[in-house]
Amino acid sequence: MTSRLFGSGWTFGAALLLPLLAAGPALADFGSCVAGLADSAAKAGVDRDVTTRAFDGLTQPDDKVLRFLEAQPEFKTPIWDYLAFLVDDQRIADGRAMLSKYGRVLQQAEQRYGIDRTVIVAVWGVESDYGKERGNYFLPHALATLVCAGERRTDFWRGELMAALKLVSAGDLRLDELYGSWAGAFGQTQFIPSTYQRLAVDFDGDGRRDLVNSIADALGSTANYLKRSGWQEGQPWMIEVKVPAGYNGPTGRKDKDPLSAWAQRGVVRADGAPLSGSAQAGLLLPAGPQGPGFLVFRNFDAIYSYNAAESYALAISYLAQRLSGGPALRTPWPTDDPGLSRAQRLRLQQLLLAQGYDIGGQADGKIGPATRAAISQAEQRLGMPQTGRAGLKVYQALGGQ
Ligand code: CA
Repeated sequence: MTSRLFGSGWTFGAALLLPLLAAGPALADFGSCVAGLADSAAKAGVDRDVTTRAFDGLTQPDDKVLRFLEAQPEFKTPIWDYLAFLVDDQRIADGRAMLSKYGRVLQQAEQRYGIDRTVIVAVWGVESDYGKERGNYFLPHALATLVCAGERRTDFWRGELMAALKLVSAGDLRLDELYGSWAGAFGQTQFIPSTYQRLAVDFDGDGRRDLVNSIADALGSTANYLKRSGWQEGQPWMIEVKVPAGYNGPTGRKDKDPLSAWAQRGVVRADGAPLSGSAQAGLLLPAGPQGPGFLVFRNFDAIYSYNAAESYALAISYLAQRLSGGPALRTPWPTDDPGLSRAQRLRLQQLLLAQGYDIGGQADGKIGPATRAAISQAEQRLGMPQTGRAGLKVYQALGGQ
């Protein structure tokens, strides 16, 4: 992927809780590794003052960052759960408010880069909840931990660290604005530093590329990113479709055919209208032929390049569809236990707490390992199958409306 290798925290809900034993010599190695990074940055032209302050107080690796690095996502999130919280009513309403509030700058971005404004806003909404969820890791410390104490891809992290420091040295950002995900994605649109360096634009014309504080810069930069990823102006990104019963033909984002070929295979628009034309699209059936189908176009690939996961690109695409005034999905997901919105997730945690379950802290709407364990206990007590999943059935069984 070009923009982000790893999602922000929620993608990896569970960290392996292995204690990381730091022996004396290992700590000395860590210290000299960090000092070496400061030297390299200075040689690459970063002010000494910046390198000194960047690593001030960093005497040992950040264990939390290393646990994220090593974590295996042990819980497979169903696609309907992703879409239920990434495209909930609140995010649609907030996105519509942003379309209105930033209408002028979005119009300019649309004109300059040819990207539909609803897609730009949808990326912003999914990446950071319109700037509200940007991550709390200080990038120089997180990235230096990954370089000096991680075991994989250390050259990649080193490049990201240098790019982050150069953004400060070049005057785009202040050092104390470099806060983001454990893996270095940061700001309104969660660019990693190398992407920021390559593709961020100064869209408000103040002379700095500031994707932390300037919404205009963030929206313009997202549009520039999508254009550089091959966006085709005026073309669709995704349409919901239905496949014939028992469909076992081709699927896959990359397996593209003209709409006329899909029509010959019996695929129709979700409302039953026929498909026609030469536009090239691939068919995604994320929950199999019983669930909603999606024909995805070249522009979907541009969205996909933002964060290489089809579920994520579907969320952005679907949010953009809703922001454009398009319909909710016509075909229901093949489950009798749908996913929860963020408001319902928060309420579920409050219900668990009120009924004496330990969710590992206060209710924050984020479903991590402790919440899943609590759900599992509740399911057992309620005589339900133990899934540990935050779904509608357990929510209602606990009294959620
Ligand atoms: Ca600017």
